[in-house]
Amino acid sequence: MEEECITCECIFCKIARGEIPSKKVYEDENYLAFHDIDPQAPVHIIIIPKKHIESLNEVSEDEKGMLGDLIILAKRLAKDLGLEKGYRIVINTGPEGGQAVLHLHLHLLGGREMGWPPG
Ligand code: 5GP
Ligand code: ZN
Repeated sequence: MEEECITCECIFCKIARGEIPSKKVYEDENYLAFHDIDPQAPVHIIIIPKKHIESLNEVSEDEKGMLGDLIILAKRLAKDLGLEKGYRIVINTGPEGGQAVLHLHLHLLGGREMGWPPG
């Protein structure tokens, strides 16, 4: 994967560069996972590629392996964080999808009954 963006001003790029502190739960060359600053469940983790991609809509066919990596990472973190009873993965996309931060990310939520529909 390409290098992380070294100039992007988006919040998650700044977190990836360590310019904004975060409570990290996982990091490797390409991916980072950290606790959401405003958790919506007892466990609420944000998982990002370090590469700046605005949203799911900007993911190309060539990058579908990255989506697999993100989901497998979410599954592994769910296990590590004790979410044996289940969890939810969310990718908010676009304004009506509730996306506030324009850097592709997965939400990993768990530790309570998540409910359906989500509202
Ligand atoms: P979105 O609505 O874009 O899908 O979700 C963005 C998420 O990022 C929100 O749940 C919000 O609480 C979280 N968030 C925004 N700014 C920060 C930050 O500076 N640090 C952390 N850890 N989470 C953030
Ligand atoms: Zn970014």
